[in-house]
Amino acid sequence: MVVYRKHMHTSLVIVLLVCAGGKVGCTEEYQLPDRVYCDHAAGISFTYPYQSFVPDPCVAHIRSQAGLRLNLYGKTYEHVPDVTVPEQVLRQFIPGVYRWKECDYYEGTGRRSFAQKKWAGLGIIAYEGRAAGSRVRMVFHHQRVDMLVLSGINKDTDTLAERCLQSMEVLGSQDGVRMRYNSSQSSEGQVYGHDGIFVDAKEAPLSRGWQEPWQIESAHFHFSGIAPTHTLWAYATHLEGVLTFLQQWFPIEQQSPYKWEIHLTKTLQQFRDMSGEVPNAAHDAIGIRTGFFNPMSMALYTLTDRQPKTTGHARLHLAHEATHLYILLFGQSSQSLPVWLSEGLAVLFENTVTSSEKPHFGLPRRRLKILKMYYKQRQKTVKPLANYILDFAPISVQGYAESYAMLHYLLSQDEKGGARLRLFWKMMRSGQAGTDAFYDAFFREHEDEKHDIRPWLARWNKKLYTYVCSGKVTKALRLQEE
Ligand SMILES: [Zn+2]
Repeated sequence: MVVYRKHMHTSLVIVLLVCAGGKVGCTEEYQLPDRVYCDHAAGISFTYPYQSFVPDPCVAHIRSQAGLRLNLYGKTYEHVPDVTVPEQVLRQFIPGVYRWKECDYYEGTGRRSFAQKKWAGLGIIAYEGRAAGSRVRMVFHHQRVDMLVLSGINKDTDTLAERCLQSMEVLGSQDGVRMRYNSSQSSEGQVYGHDGIFVDAKEAPLSRGWQEPWQIESAHFHFSGIAPTHTLWAYATHLEGVLTFLQQWFPIEQQSPYKWEIHLTKTLQQFRDMSGEVPNAAHDAIGIRTGFFNPMSMALYTLTDRQPKTTGHARLHLAHEATHLYILLFGQSSQSLPVWLSEGLAVLFENTVTSSEKPHFGLPRRRLKILKMYYKQRQKTVKPLANYILDFAPISVQGYAESYAMLHYLLSQDEKGGARLRLFWKMMRSGQAGTDAFYDAFFREHEDEKHDIRPWLARWNKKLYTYVCSGKVTKALRLQEE
């Protein structure tokens, strides 16, 4: 049996250290006020303080550095209009004596534009309750009751609590799709600033300084950036397509109700200021550091395209980091993937083509061109492949392309590539460590009678060299769907 369990994903370790140092999300100069919770199935949404983190991306429980603790309870009721005493409902969930008052859900302007009747629909009833150190907002809607419960409130956090409670939104509907008001406005070409007020993207100036970015929201992402405003929506649409494609190959039972935080800066200096000198940041084909992700805050950071010549790179970087984050959030619990596999998968999905009717795999042509030159010059692979598989070696800039080439080969070696990829995910979702799941799905059958993979790896090394030099690796992947 080969040694296959020792590995710990280098970038994950570093990211956690960064978080442990208190750096969750953006730096102080780049401080957004709110993050977004949006449960499409329940039809409920709210915003909460930016410096908060999500212990489990699929469970509605949030902790905040500012001392707020939030919980959300939802329950379906058959006859909502008959429920007139909030305590009867509340007692099932939280102890304590609350003073209640009914409030007008439809009241409000500015940030509460979502409450207008033409968007929210009719029949929404809201209550607010207060107890020592706690506040609750309860909303009856569509035969449901949802409660946002805030605890750990004191004088210092009361304003934050108020803002949070006021933001509780019943999703409205556009063309039959239930969504947040902010998503509907974003899809109409509007952007909003720190004050939460929308402006037509065409009339908005290009930049209000990098500390005050424009924001937009799509179904699963909350974007902030200094990009030309009209491109923010193009990025969001692309990333939604990548997410759909990831879900197609790596299915999950439900999408996280917490919107992912996507940050785009314009210059390398802004990117560095925002991200700090984060050592795990990704590199592009020529080694420029271009993006990174933070699993604790479900955030991606990248540079927008700086010149027309580099147009499209931001889309690659976003998709690359999104793949890492998706796999970390939904694919495994504690054990991570070897670096080559993690990067190989990120390069595989970074080129997702979302412009056609169905998303499909594209090719990292620039990376492969450089890899081919490298192979031909040196007459060998960047590293012996056994180094990646057995020794979990760190990877160089060319290693990204080599990892992709390895994956491309494994997925194309027979007609079972698609089935293997799905099996790998299924095993990982069932709790198997990522390293073992991949080994079982792709390598186990190549072991010899002594359960040794080394002879096969040595042969694969030669084959991969030819595979890259002959150009077979630049044939687009067409994997069999289920
Ligand atoms: Zn990466």
